[in-house]
Amino acid sequence: MSNLLKGKTGDWEIVIGIEIHAQIISQSKLFSGSSTLFGSEHNTQVSFVDAGMPGMLPVINSVCIEQAVKTGLGLNAKINNFSIFDRKNYFYPDLPQGYQISQFEQPIVGNGEIMIDLDGNTIKKVRIERLHLEQDAGKSLHDQHPSYSYVDLNRSGIALMEIVSMPDMSSAEEAQAYIKKVRNIMKYLQTCDGNMDEGSLRADINVSVRKPGNELGIRCEIKNVNSIKFIGQAIEYEAKRQIDIIEDGKVIKQQTRLFDPKKGQTRAMRSKEEAHDYRYFPDPDLLPLVFTDEFVESIRKTLPELPDLKKQRFVDEYGLSPYDAGLLVSEKDTADYFEIAATGSNSKLVCNWIAGELFSFLNKENKRIDESPVTPVNLGKLINLIDNGTITGRIAKDIFEMMFKSGDDPMTIVDSNNMRQVSDEGEIEKIVDLIITSNPDQVKALEIKPNLMGWFVGQVMKETQGKANPKAVNEILIKKLIIKD
Ligand code: MN
Repeated sequence: MSNLLKGKTGDWEIVIGIEIHAQIISQSKLFSGSSTLFGSEHNTQVSFVDAGMPGMLPVINSVCIEQAVKTGLGLNAKINNFSIFDRKNYFYPDLPQGYQISQFEQPIVGNGEIMIDLDGNTIKKVRIERLHLEQDAGKSLHDQHPSYSYVDLNRSGIALMEIVSMPDMSSAEEAQAYIKKVRNIMKYLQTCDGNMDEGSLRADINVSVRKPGNELGIRCEIKNVNSIKFIGQAIEYEAKRQIDIIEDGKVIKQQTRLFDPKKGQTRAMRSKEEAHDYRYFPDPDLLPLVFTDEFVESIRKTLPELPDLKKQRFVDEYGLSPYDAGLLVSEKDTADYFEIAATGSNSKLVCNWIAGELFSFLNKENKRIDESPVTPVNLGKLINLIDNGTITGRIAKDIFEMMFKSGDDPMTIVDSNNMRQVSDEGEIEKIVDLIITSNPDQVKALEIKPNLMGWFVGQVMKETQGKANPKAVNEILIKKLIIKD
């Protein structure tokens, strides 16, 4: 085991289980026709059902059901042909019904499993315990008035999938890889946009520690962590905190905790409630969900190619290494970009340019790949210009930068800036001769320092502004300086 943490009393193992709340992509809410659009005026997307008005009845949204089944299939999970909705009772100002409609004992999706990618080449299986459907709550606004809190119910009733993992992860990196993978699968399926900033994907992290081989320790749940980076920090802090407590001879209290990103610490929010505190019971307003096998199979037929299969296809079809293929499929938009750029161009080069220049420019400008000024078609054209010798690899970097600024076609840039590769031997020879005659000291020094050859290559490149064919330059220099014919 490489994930052990050192304590005063020896090694500790971290045990992590994750609950993801993923907002379903659907135009209307789980039990009402109100819009789910993000960022609208407060309380403009609220029906009587969402506001918990007496006598209102929930009506199931079939799109949300199909999305949950699709997600279950994407997580290689068992779809339950019979499931029921329960009321989870608790009081909170942003929960006007006084209960959340959720699923408890019989969820829509049962056991599943996904593979997570670790440090390039290692793959680990993480088991999924279940996926259930539930309503989101509204939102309390504490910053609108000096002495009152307001409530915005736009989010109230939006469909969520709660995806619960088994406690199969044992480091911050594994937890991060797991969340990235689930998010990626849902983005491929278009069942959740995975946008953590807008809260469409939130994670609750259960952390406990134990001596290797011992029984599970007492866990704490860190609520609503909303970035991959914070998830890593929260786990590392929390595991150390628990180890210190146990090593001091004290006992961990089962708690719900919050992560404070400014301090990099978790702090107690409340003692952990148990399922029986919620008085779950079947919602009498809703019938059970009953699926035929044909229904499930009809949804299975609509599944797109998912990341694991796409990765394998990229290896087989484009001859990429598993590492490169994994990098490309880790975001659907990147995989799509690659496939367009690689159509008719050298796929390995395309991959290198995406991972190198393109990512670095996008990072600098804080742009997503679907906003790239260099279109995938134009990147493919640039690669072809290198491949067929029209331009040198060195000048291609300048051209790429100009493409990123202007969005222009690479050939337009090459032509209007006279950037074609010079392969004409006569022309290169003239430049080589000029450099030899004007640098007699260097020519002499070359006899005892053969690695000065690089300096001559550099001079020719400088003189031609990077346009000389490097292979031709080397051959001519060797002919003139070493063989001396
Ligand atoms: Mn939940």
